[in-house]
Amino acid sequence: MPTTVHAWAAHAAGSPLVPHQITRRDVGERDVAIEITHCGVCHSDIHQARDEWGGSSFPMVPGHEIVGRVTQVGRAVKRFAPGDLAGVGCLVDSCRTCASCRRNLEQYCEKGAAQTYNGTEMDRKTPTYGGYSRAIVVDEAFTLRIRKGVDPAAAAPLLCAGITTWSPLRHWKAGKGTRVGVVGLGGLGHMAVKLAAALGAEVTMFSTSPAKEADARRLGAHGFVLTRDPANLGKLAGRLDLIINTISAPHDYNAYLATLAVDGVMVLVGAPPSSPPVKAFSLIGGRKTLAGSMIGGLAETQEMLDFCAERGITSDVEIIPIAKINDAYERMLRNDVKYRFVIDLATL
Ligand code: NAP
Ligand code: ZN
Ligand code: ZN
Repeated sequence: MPTTVHAWAAHAAGSPLVPHQITRRDVGERDVAIEITHCGVCHSDIHQARDEWGGSSFPMVPGHEIVGRVTQVGRAVKRFAPGDLAGVGCLVDSCRTCASCRRNLEQYCEKGAAQTYNGTEMDRKTPTYGGYSRAIVVDEAFTLRIRKGVDPAAAAPLLCAGITTWSPLRHWKAGKGTRVGVVGLGGLGHMAVKLAAALGAEVTMFSTSPAKEADARRLGAHGFVLTRDPANLGKLAGRLDLIINTISAPHDYNAYLATLAVDGVMVLVGAPPSSPPVKAFSLIGGRKTLAGSMIGGLAETQEMLDFCAERGITSDVEIIPIAKINDAYERMLRNDVKYRFVIDLATL
């Protein structure tokens, strides 16, 4: 029997989130049922609830940084048992047969993966609803293991902010001897600093917020650049090998490209709805690359979770009751979050 589950939803672009009820499917052979205890609040939740990227569907239950306890498993499930901690990130299914899926790059599924919310299951009909809800039913193949003893609230943001920054750091081989810049100290940015530092890179933080300098250094940054004064960026011209750009609002990429060394790469993970043009000469002089990266595949997400568990790396979180979610969105838009809001779903 499908079950009715309490949730919070946006009913139209930009309207405040309000209490809502959704249906979760019966637990199938390969399914894991999870009672959600915590869900991180990603800036993508705001972009989509406000339809800033276009194509949003409503009612929308956002949330793709989900951690909880397994309550029931299907007969064919091997890796989970009731009582286990489990996580769900941005994807709940994919075609599993295309070239990308076969390379463990489900996020780039050629048929279009099933997003955890604001999308549909692979039947292209059944809407998906995210983690601002009390429970979820997910195929085992898209469920992540969270080790015993890990703080579930502080681990939740790893499911999106963690993997989104881990994947490009690994793909472009950040490590000892590489000079990594992180742009924007929010949810993604603070994980990028922690992970790049843990991989052994020399990390420079670029921020518009002078008050965040001490935190940036505590998180592992070796340098801090206040970007409000363009002269500060100029001092770093030609210095960096890799930049992870997490800025959520339109901004000028050219200024950051100038801080790359020859063959340097700037990876966009931040997804502003629009941006000023990139000048050809920002790339030509120095054989530079402007790249993009989207979350990470399931195997890579598990690799990141295990790395974080071994190193004791989690997110710096402010736990909020669900009733504060609309305030939390406003505070994120004022860059007032240290450094991820996480909803305590017991308050729902
Ligand atoms: P967040 O917590 O709100 O942090 C964004 C940070 O960007 C802010 O804290 C601020 O840092 C900086 N910023 C904001 N507005 C700015 C502006 N106008 N100019 C310069 N800097 C500005 O957001 P988040 O959750 O980390 O998400 C960041 C972006 O990544 C969003 O666009 C989100 O949709 C996207 N995202 C992409 C993926 C992916 O797969 N590629 C996955 C998750 C999220 P300072 O105060 O330090 O300046
Ligand atoms: Zn996200
Ligand atoms: Zn596929």
